[in-house]
Amino acid sequence: MAGRRKCLKPKLHVFLAAMILGLPSLAWCRVGGSETPPSARASAAILPDRLSQYSDLAIEWERKYLQIDTTNPPGNEIRAAEFFKRIFEQEGIENQLFEYAPGRADLWARIPRTTAEAQKPIILLNHMDVVTSDPAQWKQPPFSGAVVDGSIYGRGAQDMKSEGLAYLMTMILLKREKVALNRDVIFLAVSDEEVNDSGTDWFLAQHRELLEGAGFLINEGGENLLERGGRVKYIGVDVGEKAPFWLHVVARGHAGHGSRPRADSAPNHLVRALDRITDYRPPFKVLPVVDEFLRQMAASEPPERAKQFRNIKAALKDRDFQIEIERDESLNYLLRDTIAVTMLGGSAQTNVIPAEAWANLDVRLLPGEDPNAFLEMLRRVVADPQVTISPQYDRFLPANYSSTDSQLYRAIEHVAGQYFPGAPVAPMLMSGYTESQRFRPLGIVAYGFCPYTETEEEGSTEHGNDERIRVEEVRRGFRVLYDVLMEVAGAIQKPN
Ligand SMILES: [Zn+2]
Repeated sequence: MAGRRKCLKPKLHVFLAAMILGLPSLAWCRVGGSETPPSARASAAILPDRLSQYSDLAIEWERKYLQIDTTNPPGNEIRAAEFFKRIFEQEGIENQLFEYAPGRADLWARIPRTTAEAQKPIILLNHMDVVTSDPAQWKQPPFSGAVVDGSIYGRGAQDMKSEGLAYLMTMILLKREKVALNRDVIFLAVSDEEVNDSGTDWFLAQHRELLEGAGFLINEGGENLLERGGRVKYIGVDVGEKAPFWLHVVARGHAGHGSRPRADSAPNHLVRALDRITDYRPPFKVLPVVDEFLRQMAASEPPERAKQFRNIKAALKDRDFQIEIERDESLNYLLRDTIAVTMLGGSAQTNVIPAEAWANLDVRLLPGEDPNAFLEMLRRVVADPQVTISPQYDRFLPANYSSTDSQLYRAIEHVAGQYFPGAPVAPMLMSGYTESQRFRPLGIVAYGFCPYTETEEEGSTEHGNDERIRVEEVRRGFRVLYDVLMEVAGAIQKPN
């Protein structure tokens, strides 16, 4: 359940040990609230020279990975899968490449646990495809991997090739540093996340056994906002996402000549229906995860807003505050189902009144919502027999989310606290969909956690122009992730 956090557990609950190339094993723990010194990070046990070499490698591979054009459509992700495969082969890491359709592939790799006693495997899930880009709008070509003013440019630098690169580097470190593990660490790179999810669909249908018994998954999502002056405002861990429930609205009426209008035409009915829909306010609902997020954010808000965030349920009783929420799209989506009118269609000619006019609605439901109940409610709002509303797809996947009460969440909190002291670690509900939705129903605790920080401007390049990441983030990010991994999967190396 969300809300139960680290401090409620009185005894040692975070435990780590690493045995690095003949160095004495490093073990630490935390009791109560006392902080661990930075030197207790697992990666700190790796000699500085070696760490620096890993960082150089991360830059080299990041640029190469960004140079692979996996624009989807059509994808051609097999090139990226082969890039990963070559590295895993060189490193002696078990892997399998599946070309499930021409040019499209999933890549699975694993570092097996070393202890006899097994914990559940952890999966590092990443998609290799990227969205389209228009080179004319970019300062550097989208598949250049160019380094300019301390940033590496490339489509996918924010979504999500840099995360995939950090996952790759983590696998390399675990292997080369001969780390003792109490769970398998699985790297899974999939195709087609940006369009149809066919890579994940295929893998879950054909090779579920390769993920057998997995307990944790790290994926894209979450955000770590870097403010001017270098302060990290928060570390946002994506614990859930809203569910798309796309609807098609059709109004019907008599066709005719535009010079002789009729009041009951299809377009007129459609406009009135959309008017009612856009006036409608779905009720506010406060999920535990959102309550927790707002409480965490309160500290960095002005006094009045902080008070509202600390007791959001009470604050929402105030009509003025409700209006404030409605005007702030970054808050509004957290607290209710949302409806956006996105596509409209009618006649192909100005002087023709069509027999049908239509609109598409991008509806996003909170976890736990019943799509049929929502649809019935919307039909009642419209209340017009000449207007029908229907789902665009037969299959609706209800939204889910993971509790913050897990060893993985605590590891993220703890490691983030060391790299970004003072930044609150807050659970986030994302407005957009991620494939974590597909894995939670398998009993897997799945979070979107990004090991990099980003400025607001850098974040806005995701799916936009000049997508890029700072070099220093690529040099450091894999270490953050490695340290998280070591806290959840690192085993004590027993002296023999
Ligand atoms: Zn993505």
